[in-house]
Amino acid sequence: MTGIDHSQRLFERANAVVPGGVNSPVRAFRAVGGTPRFIASARGPYLIDADGNEYVDLICSWGPLILGHAHPAVVEAVTRAAERGTSYGAPTPGEVELAEEIVARTPVEMVRLVNSGTEATMSAIRLARGFTGRSKVVKFAGCYHGHVDSLLAAAGSGVATLALPDTPGVTGATTADTIVLPYNDAAAVEEAFGRHGHEIACVITEACPANMGVVPPLEDFNRLLKALCERHGALLIMDEVLTGFRASRTGWYGLEGVAGDLMTFGKVMGGGLPAAAFGGRADVMAHLAPAGPVYQAGTLSGNPLATAAGLATLRNATEEVYQTIARAASVVSRAASEALAKEGVPHRLQVAGTLFSIFFTDEQVRDFAAAQRQNTKAYAAFFHAALDRGVYLPPSAYEAWFLSAAHDEAALDRVVEAMPHAARAAAEALG
Ligand SMILES: *Cc1c(COP(=O)(O)O)cnc(C)c1O
Repeated sequence: MTGIDHSQRLFERANAVVPGGVNSPVRAFRAVGGTPRFIASARGPYLIDADGNEYVDLICSWGPLILGHAHPAVVEAVTRAAERGTSYGAPTPGEVELAEEIVARTPVEMVRLVNSGTEATMSAIRLARGFTGRSKVVKFAGCYHGHVDSLLAAAGSGVATLALPDTPGVTGATTADTIVLPYNDAAAVEEAFGRHGHEIACVITEACPANMGVVPPLEDFNRLLKALCERHGALLIMDEVLTGFRASRTGWYGLEGVAGDLMTFGKVMGGGLPAAAFGGRADVMAHLAPAGPVYQAGTLSGNPLATAAGLATLRNATEEVYQTIARAASVVSRAASEALAKEGVPHRLQVAGTLFSIFFTDEQVRDFAAAQRQNTKAYAAFFHAALDRGVYLPPSAYEAWFLSAAHDEAALDRVVEAMPHAARAAAEALG
C-alpha cells in the first residue's frame, strides 16, 4: 500500500460537513475501526482509493454490481441515455422495458418503479394497508428493509407486544402497529396471528435474510408465512431488494419458489444507479394511484439513466454469469473458512445461492439473537488484515460478502493469499 493520507484528509474534510463523514453509516468503518477508504474509481473486481491503493472488492456496492464495476455494456447504456437527456418527468420506453424484464423474471404481475429499496418497502406496506384496510405489520428482528420509520422497531418485552422505536426520531405511535418477532420462529408467528389475525395487513420478511449476515429461512418457514397470511387475509411482502437477481437469476424465489403477494426489488435491478421497485399480484397493484386510491409518486422514479443501467445489467446477467459468481463465491468462502479452521477460529459459513457470510461463532445462526453472539472483535482484526493485503471485505460482521462475474483468477488469487493472514489476525484478537 502507498499509505492512506488522501483518505485521511478527505475523511477530516467530510467530517466537517457530513455527519460522521459518510452518507450511509456502515461506510464509516465504526464496526471495525480505522479510516474509511475514499474510492476514486473502480473497474471489474477492483476498487481504487484516493491514494491509488487497489483492493479486490467483496461488497460490490452492497450487491448491485453483479457484472463488476464499469462493465462496458452498462457504461455504454448510461452514456447513451445521458446524451438523450437525464430526466423528463414523463413516461419513457425504458421504464416499460425494465418493468417487462422484472415481470418476466419473477412471479410479480405488475411493478411500480421507485428510487431506493427503502421507498419500495415503504410503499409496499402502504399499499398492503390500503388494500386490506388493516393497520398492523409483522416484521422480524434482524431483517432490514431500509430506514422506513415503522420498520425501525425493536421487539418489546414478550412476544407479540407493542414494538418499540429502535432509533431516536421514530415515535411510539409510529411503531405501535408493528409487531416484531424472532426470525425463523414459527410458533411466534402463529401466536401473533392467533392474537391479531384480523388486524394484520401484512408480514414483511427478507425472502432470505442477508442483512444480519446470511440467515436462510428454515425449511417451510416462508411457506408457513404464506399460508398464515392467506388464512387470515393478510398480504405477504417478500423483500428481495438484496437477494433479487443476485441469489440466483430470479433471486431467492428462484431457489425456494415461495412468491409474495407483493415483492420488493432494488440493488441489482438498478445496475449501480438509484432504481428499485415493488410489485406483485395485479389485483393488489391495481389499488395504486392513478389506477386506484393508494397514493405513491416520485419525481425521478423510472429515471432514464437508472433504467438504462438496470436493463443493461439484467440483460447481461445470463445463467453463465450466475455460474461464474457461484464459482467465485465458493472459492472465496472455502479459502476463508479453511484459513479460519486452520487457526482454530470458531466460525460458521452460511450460504444462500451465490450469497454467503461468515459468522465468528461456533453455533448455527438461525436468528438475530444468535448472530449477535458472534465475536465482532475477531472480525475487525480479520477485516483489517485483509484490507492491508488489498482485499476489501464488508466493514461489519453482520453483512454478506458479494462477488461478481468480473472476479477472475487474478482477483480470486489475491483473496485466497490474504485469507491465512486475516485468519491469523483474528486468532490473535481472540487471544
Ligand atoms: C438494501 C436493502 C433495503 C434498502 O434499500 P436502499 O436502496 O438502501 O434504501 C431494503 N431491503 C433489503 C433487504 C435490503 O438489503
